[in-house]
Amino acid sequence: NGVSLARESVMRSLQDFRLIYKKVLNELEHKPKEGSDLHAYKIFRDRFFTQCDDKKYVGNVPGIHAGDIFYARVELCVVGLHRPHRLGIDHIKEEDGTCIAISIVAYAHFSDVKKNLDVLVYSGSLTTTTSRRIDGTNLALKKSMDTNTPVRVIHGFSIHTKGNIQRKKMLIYGGLYLVVKYWREKESDDRYVYMFRLRRIAGQKHVDFEEILKSGHAEPYDGVIINDLSHGMEKIPISVANSISDELPMPYVYISCLKYPRNYKPAPPAGCACVGGCSDSKLCACVVKNGGEIPFNDKGRIIVAKPLVYECGPSCKCPPTCYNRVGQKGMKFRLQVFKTKSMGWGVKTLDFIPSGSFVCEYIGEVLYDEEAQKRMTDEYLFAIGHNYYDETLWEGLSRSIPSLQKGPEEDEDAGFAVDASKMGNFAKFINHSCTPNLYAQNVLYDHDDKSAPHIMFFACEDIPPCQELAYHYNYAIDQVYDANGNIKKKKCLCGSSECDGWLY
Ligand code: SAM
Repeated sequence: NGVSLARESVMRSLQDFRLIYKKVLNELEHKPKEGSDLHAYKIFRDRFFTQCDDKKYVGNVPGIHAGDIFYARVELCVVGLHRPHRLGIDHIKEEDGTCIAISIVAYAHFSDVKKNLDVLVYSGSLTTTTSRRIDGTNLALKKSMDTNTPVRVIHGFSIHTKGNIQRKKMLIYGGLYLVVKYWREKESDDRYVYMFRLRRIAGQKHVDFEEILKSGHAEPYDGVIINDLSHGMEKIPISVANSISDELPMPYVYISCLKYPRNYKPAPPAGCACVGGCSDSKLCACVVKNGGEIPFNDKGRIIVAKPLVYECGPSCKCPPTCYNRVGQKGMKFRLQVFKTKSMGWGVKTLDFIPSGSFVCEYIGEVLYDEEAQKRMTDEYLFAIGHNYYDETLWEGLSRSIPSLQKGPEEDEDAGFAVDASKMGNFAKFINHSCTPNLYAQNVLYDHDDKSAPHIMFFACEDIPPCQELAYHYNYAIDQVYDANGNIKKKKCLCGSSECDGWLY
């Protein structure tokens, strides 16, 4: 629909800009020079001039949500949230020539996040004792107050990284505010400053600034220590970034396809006979197995989460372009392994990921349960058939999810697990969250063994660039044991406001 199209387009612009800015910074060896942001912006505008409408919006900008994060002032120009790249106030001109403020960038101290940012005091521009009347941008803010015009507030923060040596900027869109009061304060003998009190308009999405800042959304422009963890095995390189220490990920054997036990020979699927491509018809054997419909739309987004999805496979007569081939085609988004503040390594997306998109597969060694039990570490073990489905996860996807509480084979003795500790892809670094943005979907396509489906992660909400990816590990609390049979417990550090407290 229009709303998600706007978000997709605005996030794509941001992504295009970030790629350009990153390249500019790379050329400068990561030391931003005065004006390098504007240089990148100029290249972006020249290259994507059709995407730049330059419209000044009053109120919310289509596609931008309260809580969205930006890493440079110029990114606000790219998305149309705040056009001037240096000034703190943006305005529109009325027909009578007067100006009304429409957005401000208000810098806050890190300690301010503990306070309520629903009310803020903004200092306008300085004025001298001789100028009797309020003017300029101060007048524009007063006019917003007089006309009840909402003002977008972007909160700017300085965050410290690398042992407080480097200071990075983070800008978070706070939503719409109303100017409720203004006054003049004496700054020096002959100078005054206008102060404005703004109050956040009620009923908007809550933004937990403390959580956003704490969760260490490393900025997208630097910190890369490995260009491609997969050594060319993935379609898109997987970079590794560490902005907080010199640590590298523990070495392991990178594989991009599941490694099955030597004696395991699963039966190949018979396949459908749809020569020209599959459609939602009873004539397609794969559609029938999926309960009468192709589970993906024409953009490759999953429509309904299911206990098991049957994609078309190697024996099917349909072409590679068939809608019912999604996860098997591999990743489409740029993802990055990065060092988190408190959960070790994690994975984030550098691109916008629309809800329902395939993100990646959990790759490792497929083990029989008994074999998995014998492994020294269970940290990277994914028990097949115990995937977590929860209707409340879904945003923008069908809510008419059938009974999803059961995986394909809950049969106790038919178990397999995927272990990525010694061999695996980058998905082993995806952390747990109590409010995840991914879910694990069981998918079959190259064999018919329901007890050993592929574990494929799909986005269960729109995921903005630079956001950490996470799924629900679905551990049963007090049912994880150590080698001596004692109950193991681990606190959850996902940082979500709805955190259950324990990982297991
Ligand atoms: N962070 C891991 C790393 O650095 O290799 C990658 C994820 S690994 C599959 C699972 C482990 O990550 C867990 O055993 C736990 O140590 C950590 N972890 C993941 N999510 C967590 C969370 N929400 N809270 C605390 N620890 C978490």
